[in-house]
Amino acid sequence: MTNDRTRPTVVVVGLGGTIAMMPSDRDGAARPTLSAEDLLAAVPQLDATDVDIQTLSFASKPGASLTLDDIDRLANQLRAMAGEGAVDGIVVTQGTDTLEETAYLLSLLYAEQAPLVVTGAMRAPHLAGADGPANLLAAVTVAASAHARGLGVLVVFNDQVFDPSRVRKTHSTSTSAFTAPDTGALGIVAEGALRLLAVPAHTPRPLAATLDRPARVALYPAALGDDGALLKTMLNQVDGMVIAGFGVGHVPETWVPVLAKAARRIPVVLASRTGAGTTLTRAYGFDGSEKDLLSRGLIGAGHLDPYKARHLLTVLLRGGADNDTIRATFAPAGTTAEGRG
Ligand code: ASP
Repeated sequence: MTNDRTRPTVVVVGLGGTIAMMPSDRDGAARPTLSAEDLLAAVPQLDATDVDIQTLSFASKPGASLTLDDIDRLANQLRAMAGEGAVDGIVVTQGTDTLEETAYLLSLLYAEQAPLVVTGAMRAPHLAGADGPANLLAAVTVAASAHARGLGVLVVFNDQVFDPSRVRKTHSTSTSAFTAPDTGALGIVAEGALRLLAVPAHTPRPLAATLDRPARVALYPAALGDDGALLKTMLNQVDGMVIAGFGVGHVPETWVPVLAKAARRIPVVLASRTGAGTTLTRAYGFDGSEKDLLSRGLIGAGHLDPYKARHLLTVLLRGGADNDTIRATFAPAGTTAEGRG
């Protein structure tokens, strides 16, 4: 396609995922094979938009096999493209399994003016009612929209627009699998245009240009009857830990000495495993309550879900942040402060 800069230029970057999967001759099961160009060919409606489209096939992986280093490399490349003004918007297509995580990660690593929109599909292209073409069309529409400029990273799925720090995959098969339980959608795509109803309350700033240092951060969920022995073993092997606690941030009382000791050595973040809402700070005072754990040095994740909290902690550690910086970054990122985060 041509590059006439009187019209917005959007680059579509393919990473793989169901949107790019076809059944193999071997067993009929879907695997990623399609390029970014192939995806565009399935959306003739793009010709009617006022957008010049370029493509970049960056990876061909299921969402489950993407790595932090993949996303770091991608963010570097996209920052360079957008920084030089080579594109007005970016669409990343990828597997939905990890989309809520990669979109948040990208929001920590990319803050150019050109919007970066992440999308995918729940139904592969060969299935009836495949949703990839509609999602791609909506994503290009948002990436090219002047109203999305400066909003950083957005997720577009099923004609809805989401804040990457709030979006969750909350259904394993539905085409409306993506929701933002705490806030709802920021807007919709209708009649070929973005209709923005809200902007993110808190836009994370990029945290580190380079993720030079190695850092291993684990995620461990609270579960009824877990005696904490495995947790103790794991804590000795990591540089940081996220606990997905019960409710507003609770764990079994037997975990308290283990977590208190670890928090003197490494950052230990306390999130909620519930899927919506926030961790609290002072409502409950029993052993293993949020108040107890925070007083022993754990860091509250607030509204940040455990998966995103793990990425925030990882990026901070890999960028060389000290403990004070980690604490100071988690408070607004989890919107634990009163008012806007
Ligand atoms: N089910 C996934 C998807 O929707 C597979 C993946 O994440 O690659 O794309």
